[in-house]
Amino acid sequence: MHSSVVVLGGGPGGYTAAFMAADLGMEVTIVEQEPRLGGVCLLRGCIPSKALLHVAKVINEAREMTDWGVTYTQPAINIDAVRARKEKVIKNLTDGLRGLAKRRKVNVIQAKATFLNSTSLQLQAPDGAVMPETLSFDHCILAIGSRPAIPQAFALNTSRVMDSTGALDLADIPKSLLVVGGGYIGLEMGSVYAELGSQVTVVELTDGLLPGADRDLVKPLQARLEKSFHAIRLGTKVAAMKDLGDAVEVTLEDANGPRQERFDRVLVSIGRRPNSDRCGIENTQVMVDKRGFVTVDKQQRTADEHILAIGDVAGEPMLAHKAMHEAKVAVEVLHGEPAVFDKRAIPAVVFTDPEIAWAGITETQAKREGRQVDVAMYPWGASGRAVSLGRTEGLTKLVIDPASERILGVGIVGAGAGELIAEGVLAIEMGCCVRDLTESIHPHPTLSETVANAGEVFFGLATEIYKPKRTHAAASS
Ligand code: FAD
Repeated sequence: MHSSVVVLGGGPGGYTAAFMAADLGMEVTIVEQEPRLGGVCLLRGCIPSKALLHVAKVINEAREMTDWGVTYTQPAINIDAVRARKEKVIKNLTDGLRGLAKRRKVNVIQAKATFLNSTSLQLQAPDGAVMPETLSFDHCILAIGSRPAIPQAFALNTSRVMDSTGALDLADIPKSLLVVGGGYIGLEMGSVYAELGSQVTVVELTDGLLPGADRDLVKPLQARLEKSFHAIRLGTKVAAMKDLGDAVEVTLEDANGPRQERFDRVLVSIGRRPNSDRCGIENTQVMVDKRGFVTVDKQQRTADEHILAIGDVAGEPMLAHKAMHEAKVAVEVLHGEPAVFDKRAIPAVVFTDPEIAWAGITETQAKREGRQVDVAMYPWGASGRAVSLGRTEGLTKLVIDPASERILGVGIVGAGAGELIAEGVLAIEMGCCVRDLTESIHPHPTLSETVANAGEVFFGLATEIYKPKRTHAAASS
C-alpha cells in the first residue's frame, strides 16, 4: 500500500492535518489504532471533561440560587445516565469526524503503526496480527499524542487508582477522592467529583495550585475550591500508596513529616508524556529530546526529511488548539507554502469555576525574565454584569509594553474567562495597543467590557474605578 501523505494518529492534530491535506488535493491516509477518530481530546480529554464540568456547573449554580431566594431540592444523580449522556456527546462528534473523513475521501485504517524506516510503516490490526502489507508514504505527519504519566510506585493494578481516563469513565461516585497534582486536569476532574458528591482532597507538591499561572488569577479559584473541596494540601508529597482492597492507603508527606490517610479512590494527574517511544521512531532519522518530545523546527519538520510532527508529541504546551494549528502549518509546508508556526499567544484555559485563562506573556513570566512591563487590572467587583451574576471575584489584567503600549499578555479569572480570552488572543496577535481596546465599543452589560475597562485603568480613566495613572493628555496623545 502507498499513500502520498500518511497521518499517524487521529486526534485533533491528526484529523485536522488529514482533512486540510485532502482539501488541498493530496492523497491522504490516517492510521489510528482506536476504532474511532478524535484522539485523547475527543475520547478521553477536552470534550468528555467539559461535558462533565457542565453538569458540575449547573448543580453549583442551582445551589447558589438560594442566595437569590430560589431554592431547588438536592439533585438526584443517576450516574449511569450522566455517563450515557457524556458518551452521546463523544459519539455525536466522532460520528461527525467519520462522516467528514469519508466525504473528503480520506482513507482511514484502524491499526497500530510502527516505522520500519523513514518511508514505511508496519501495521498491526486491532486483534494484534501484523498486516501482510506495509504502508509506504512520501511524507508522514506524526500526530501520535501523549498519555498520562504514572510513576511505577503508583501503578497498583487496582481500579481505585485512576488516571484521567479512569476518572472520566465515572465508574461510581467515590465517598472520598484524593487528587494527586494541582494542575488543570486534577482541578477540573476534582471539581466534577466534588459537585457529584465526593469528598475531594487535592495534594500538590509545589507551594501553589496551577504552577505557571499568575498567583492573583489563582487566588479567587483557590478560595472557591477551598469551600467545595474537603482539603487542598500544598507542599505535600505522596510518598507511598497501598491497595487495601476496600480503600487505598496513601502516605502523605509535608513539612510536618509523613502521615497515612485512606481514600476510596485516587486520581493521579501529575502530567503527561509523549508517545514517541511506542512507534519504532528509532528506525527513522527523527530526533527526540530527553523528555521524549520529537524535535521540530518552525515548519514542523523533524530531522527526517520525510516526517513532520505536530501536537502533543511535538512539545509543550500539550493543548488541542496548538495541535490543530501546527497541523495547518505542517500541511501548508507540504503544499509548498512558506508557512511557519510563529505565534505570539497560545491561550491556556482552566475550565474550573471560576475559569482561569491567559494568553501571551504572564506577569510571572515577565518578572522571571526581568522584562519591564506595566500591568493594568480591572476587578470584577466594578462590573455591572459580574455584580448581576453574583460573580464579583473575577479579575481581568493586561500585561503591557510600557514604551509602545502594546498588549503583550492578557489574564482573566472569572465566570466564562475561557470565552473572554479570545479577544486577548486577537489583541496580542494583531499587535494591538491599549487604546485599540479602549476605543472599541464593547457591549454593555457584559463581562467582555472588563477587557476594555482594564485598558481604561491603564490610562487612569476607568469610569467605575478611581485610580489615577496616566494623564488625560498622555491618553489622548
Ligand atoms: P492525541 O489527541 O493524543 O491523539 C493521538 C492519537 O494517536 C490517539 O488517538 C492514539 O490512539 C493515536 N496513536 C498513538 N500511537 C499510535 C500508533 N503507533 N499507531 C496508530 N495510532 C496511534 N486540551 C485543550 O486544548 N483543552 C482542554 O480543555 C483539554 N482538556 C483535557 C482534559 C483531559 C482530561 C486530558 C487528558 C487532556 C486535555 N487536553 C485539553 C489536552 C488535549 O487532549 C491534547 O492536547 C490533544 O488531544 C493532543 O492532540 P494530538 O492530536 O497531538 O494527540
